[in-house]
Amino acid sequence: MSERVLVGAGVGTGISIAPAFKYSSTKYVPWESDKAGSTRGLIAIKAAIAQVEQDLDQSIRAADPEAASILEALKLTLSDPSLVSGIKERLADGANSQRAVAGAFSGAAKALSSLGEYFAARAADVEELGNKVIKVLSGEEEVQFPKTPFVLVADSLGPIEMNRLVGSAVVGLITRTGSATSHTAILARAADLPTVVSVLGSDFIHEGDLLIVDSSSGQVLVNPDEQEQRQYNQAFTKSIQKIEVTEGLLNVDLYANLGSSSEAESALAFGAQGVGLFRTELLFLGAKQAPSLESQILEYSRLLSSFPNKRVIVRVLDLDTDKPLPFLKLAESGKYANRGFQALLSNIGVLETQLQALAESAKRFPSTELWVMAPMVTSPKQAKQFVELAKSYGLKTAGVMIEVPEVCQEEPLQEILDAVDFVSIGTNDLTQYTLNLDRIQSVIALSDVRKPEVLSLIERVIAKARSSKKPVGICGEAASDPISAKLFIDFGVTSLSLSPALLPGLVRALRN
Ligand code: PEP
Ligand code: MG
Repeated sequence: MSERVLVGAGVGTGISIAPAFKYSSTKYVPWESDKAGSTRGLIAIKAAIAQVEQDLDQSIRAADPEAASILEALKLTLSDPSLVSGIKERLADGANSQRAVAGAFSGAAKALSSLGEYFAARAADVEELGNKVIKVLSGEEEVQFPKTPFVLVADSLGPIEMNRLVGSAVVGLITRTGSATSHTAILARAADLPTVVSVLGSDFIHEGDLLIVDSSSGQVLVNPDEQEQRQYNQAFTKSIQKIEVTEGLLNVDLYANLGSSSEAESALAFGAQGVGLFRTELLFLGAKQAPSLESQILEYSRLLSSFPNKRVIVRVLDLDTDKPLPFLKLAESGKYANRGFQALLSNIGVLETQLQALAESAKRFPSTELWVMAPMVTSPKQAKQFVELAKSYGLKTAGVMIEVPEVCQEEPLQEILDAVDFVSIGTNDLTQYTLNLDRIQSVIALSDVRKPEVLSLIERVIAKARSSKKPVGICGEAASDPISAKLFIDFGVTSLSLSPALLPGLVRALRN
């Protein structure tokens, strides 16, 4: 019997066995106040930021394309002017350099978190970037990884550290926090590194403990006995065979999920046939008032111009109003009231401006096939409302996301399908709401989508959409998981949309 079995969210499908190497990334430690004055502090901080930028450039040049695109996006964060102004404000208020950097970066991370799960997962990356700047400021040395195979055990790990890790003797990864949709998880999947995130009780692991990391079940066995080691070795062989038999036709469109038009180029480089989900939340981030019609036209036009003769599906704003933006009114109380389309109904002006900007951009780039969709629609009435409104602006193709179990029931589903041009299944939300989990607080594994309660709903939505002759896509993270993707294809899904960096890996896995 192993000493302990810990459980978390598995990322990928592999198994690894090796001793633990405990790693703690830099955390903010208050140091003596640098009363020398904010000007000197600011100069040192700017130099540290420039150093981190340079290190990132070096990593980008050495990284594979998946990691490079993630690191490029992080590098952009460093040139965000609001970050420097946040640091200046804190220095002027008397904070020392470390505190000023930590405060400004966590402010930026918090703003991201308030935009929902997808961006919350990226907030940790911004925190990591801040830690990196602090590390340079304090002249701290990088930790050296062991030269023999090891499983890295950390509280959390950002993409910069993750990139440093790939290429070392690492064979597995365990983190106490983090989600299966974070950049770290994306990079771990891309590097085929068996990983379990959100492992409760990871503190019980000691340096050098022998660990079995089973990323399919999300289990971590601490100091397993010999019999368990043998069993896991056999299971490992079987799991490889299971992937090999998922041979398949790629009878499905493969699209990219994007959060900004700046990601278009790399999406195309990764082979995206179009965009299956353009999240518009970033446009609204940190804004004191709703983004203007002109600024939205600019962003959507940039996006559409990058995909001539291809399909681009743009989702209108999906914000949680529990951390409201100053210009958003709170929705009425009730289940799902503060999410998605329902929240937009209380802020109809915001939705109208978005639709107007989309329609105007579509006119400018007629060769791009623009489809628009509403998030978190909870009734046929809402679906009809959205489609009517979108069409009143001249938008030709309008659909909705299927993300709550209520709309997967026979009758409402059929009514929705009769009203829309297409549907897209958001498996992230559909999984959390069907299994009654909280996406941020709970441990949700990518494989949870294959639990019978969730999978049966997905199968029904796809079957009904096909019999109604309406395109049906999947744009949640599960689309990137080869085992789930194969099931969705067997059910008859017409498109899969995922992070662009994961497209090549999925194609490889489906072709094998
Ligand atoms: C989903 O819920 O699966 C989805 C794609 O939407 P988001 O992750 O943005 O909530
Ligand atoms: Mg969703």
